Amino acid sequence: MAVSGSGDVPAEVDVAVVGAGFSGLYLLYRLRELGLEAIAFDEADDVGGTWYWNRYPGARCDVPTTDYAYSFDPGLESDWTWSEKYATQPEILAYLRHVADRYDLRRDIRFGTRITAAAWDETARRWRLRTGDGGELSCRYYVMASGCLSLPKTPDIEGAGRFRGDVYFTGRWPHEGVDFTGKRVAVVGTGSSGIQSIPLIARQAAALTVFQRTPNFSIPARNGPPSPDRLAALATDRAGYREAARWSRGGVPSELTDVSGLTAPEAVRRQRFEDAWQSGELFGILGVFSDQAVNLVSNDLVAEMIREKIRGVVSDADTADALCPTDYPFGTKRPCLDSSYFETFNLPHVRLVDLRTTPIVAITEAGIDMAGESLPFEAIVFATGFDAMTGPLVSVNVTGTGGVTLERKWERGPETYLGLMTAGFPNFFMVTGPQSPSVLSNMVVSIEQHVDWITDCLRRMRAENLDRIEPTPLAEAGWVRHNQDCADITLYPRANSWYMGANVPGKPRVFLPYVGGVDAYRRACDEVIEKGFLGFRLDGPAGPRCNDGVIRRIQPDVAMVLDLMASLGLPPMETMSAADARAFLEVIDASRPPGPEVGEIIDAALPGPAGDLAYRLYRPPSQGPHPLIAYFHGGGWVLGSQDSDDPFCRDLCVRTGSVVVSVNYRHAPEDRFPAAVDDAFAAVRWIAANAAGLGGIPGQLTVAGWSAGGNLAAVTCQLARDAGGPDIAGQLLLHPVTDCDLGRPSYSSNGEGFVLTAALMRWFWDHYADEADRVNPIASPLRGTLAGLPPAVVITAEFDPLRDEGDAYAEALAAAGVPVRHIRARGHIHTSLTMVDVVISGAPVRAEIAEALAGLRPATVLS
Ligand code: NAP
Repeated sequence: MAVSGSGDVPAEVDVAVVGAGFSGLYLLYRLRELGLEAIAFDEADDVGGTWYWNRYPGARCDVPTTDYAYSFDPGLESDWTWSEKYATQPEILAYLRHVADRYDLRRDIRFGTRITAAAWDETARRWRLRTGDGGELSCRYYVMASGCLSLPKTPDIEGAGRFRGDVYFTGRWPHEGVDFTGKRVAVVGTGSSGIQSIPLIARQAAALTVFQRTPNFSIPARNGPPSPDRLAALATDRAGYREAARWSRGGVPSELTDVSGLTAPEAVRRQRFEDAWQSGELFGILGVFSDQAVNLVSNDLVAEMIREKIRGVVSDADTADALCPTDYPFGTKRPCLDSSYFETFNLPHVRLVDLRTTPIVAITEAGIDMAGESLPFEAIVFATGFDAMTGPLVSVNVTGTGGVTLERKWERGPETYLGLMTAGFPNFFMVTGPQSPSVLSNMVVSIEQHVDWITDCLRRMRAENLDRIEPTPLAEAGWVRHNQDCADITLYPRANSWYMGANVPGKPRVFLPYVGGVDAYRRACDEVIEKGFLGFRLDGPAGPRCNDGVIRRIQPDVAMVLDLMASLGLPPMETMSAADARAFLEVIDASRPPGPEVGEIIDAALPGPAGDLAYRLYRPPSQGPHPLIAYFHGGGWVLGSQDSDDPFCRDLCVRTGSVVVSVNYRHAPEDRFPAAVDDAFAAVRWIAANAAGLGGIPGQLTVAGWSAGGNLAAVTCQLARDAGGPDIAGQLLLHPVTDCDLGRPSYSSNGEGFVLTAALMRWFWDHYADEADRVNPIASPLRGTLAGLPPAVVITAEFDPLRDEGDAYAEALAAAGVPVRHIRARGHIHTSLTMVDVVISGAPVRAEIAEALAGLRPATVLS
């Protein structure tokens, strides 16, 4: 097939595109459909992008080809048949050539042309581009469709340029192919490219030495004909299958499991792993357990089962050990699919050099020197990877408003809005840019979504007489933070991976792709448009407009909990009787993770004013005595017990190294105000008097509580001060009820949809206290005198109806001269921090609480 499309470059176009791979081709198709004049540039002399350059032996996709294909045109789908489950590079390249021909795209592509510089001209509101051969053109919109893994990394090995033999890079493989027959060959690198090519190079080479810095997890691809199940699903309902892919976690329809590695029986664990192993699909092995991406124990179960498989294949025990990854969680570096990779190391002419024990000293003219050994080679293959995601974008000299370059703006890591645009670079779009799902997903699905979003955006702008678009700094900062929040609840940041930029010396260590899922991401992109281009500043003949804001403020795991609860359609608690609400809470509590192990747990009772009060004591494993915490559970004075806050109390005990005494108290409506207060104060007096017997350090008593329990803790501190004792060293108030005023703004902004509702708070107050009693300071401690109270740690949550009264209490305490550490839990709800081992993003806040409490002993801490 002749390569065409090297015609003249017009001086002005509507849209200039960099790249003619999967992204650039589809973009050209859509732009043409819109009637925009568009031109694409590619350094290569044909279409294909990644599939043009990566021609090394064994190169294949690692997403099933049934799914690794465009879905925008049913006609295209019906006239192309994939021959294998994972197609080879030549077949995928042939597919992309077919696409270019079918839609006559080459006429708008300039091959062999690199864009070397792009600068925004604010006066003309156009981008001015320069090409490698000195040509110039201008465009209204500039789109980098340049791929995430298109800039090969230069090998950072001493003497890399000195070798006189043949040198090959997997990412820039000769078109005519390479014959290694009879040669001594070195392969440096054991990522996907190395793992795919090593078995085939071994078939030809006389001797093959593999230099491995980090072993990789890999599972057998079990290549063959395309999966009959996927083909059948497509044949039955093509459109439904594609739509399911668009709304899936990774861009391939897959069933999500709720089987946790922590709780599943051994037989279930094994079976699930074996099924995934046999499927030969990455999303299968990445989804053996629901919690393997976030919980190290669960993750290690999968990792160990893979290591068992490796040891079962590789005959030499030392080689097997060296091939087993042990120092990063499974999945946090991109896992690989292979065909006989581990088996290759059983061949007599194949040797593994573990660079961690035997580092390369230098590459020489004749080969590779290691300490005490020189290995001669005729050929060296570098499978050393790419400057991923940001590399291809900053390698072009892109200059935005105020003369700031993209490279300079991203010095400390990429900053984007939705991975689609970046502030200060108007009308500049990225296809699958950093902070979008991209490399963590089926690329083709993500590419189609981005191209559709960009072209839909241009269509809307044209319809509304607008011609300039740029994200706001606020929206961008919010997205960057949300990306970080998503990554932080996973194990990904623990690996030195290219996802983290860790493979390129000097590159900032920042998690690059969006890990919240294709489905969640698509929802965010759609919402931005539905909300009138939320977070974008637009301008044009129609005049300027901006609906500024942040698209995702809630912590990602909290959002998942809320989604799950919404899907269960649970009845609102305030519609139940108190007895039914208590029973309901017990059912919910029974299904949650238990929280951490503590040294000892004792259930006992202490004397209260109207009978014994049950308490549960948690003792740290370390030798006592320990600081002491008297704790009161939440539940609106109506519900809860020493069981309901059990995981939180365990966590508090472990993190603070304190004996925690969680005291039950009488509940309303059976025992209304001030019964709970009387019980709480009596309990604190008893605990203080019995501190030594409980294993506490006398004089180091903190009174703590969550929600209504926080109310009781705050009130108890006021009562103790007024009664002249007992001595309380500190108060820990977690989302406390401090006032009966339900008119505060957080009751309207957070009054619905965040578990604790305004209606439920009203129900609690109605059960607890008469109207006249509610303004009493021992019901609403904010109305009391605050001077002379013990130092306080006050925690408020951004999406809690109680936020404002908690904030007000912290401020009022500080104004009264009480040392206060006020922790604002960003993106959290009323129940976030007590959902131990469910809401992972709560853990750093609980760590901060523990650190703040330590600061109360013996000195105090001011915020
Ligand atoms: P890679 O995953 O970054 O692997 C590069 C390998 O080279 C790693 O083993 C790395 O070790 C090693 N290395 C780098 N610099 C080195 C040095 N100075 N000395 C010794 N070893 C060095 O790159 P890749 O294999 O090209 O794959 C990149 C990504 O492209 C993949 O993760 C995947 O997303 C995609 N890909 C997909 C397929 C497919 O199946 N469809 C095929 C190829 C690539 P460290 O791990 O210690 O850094």
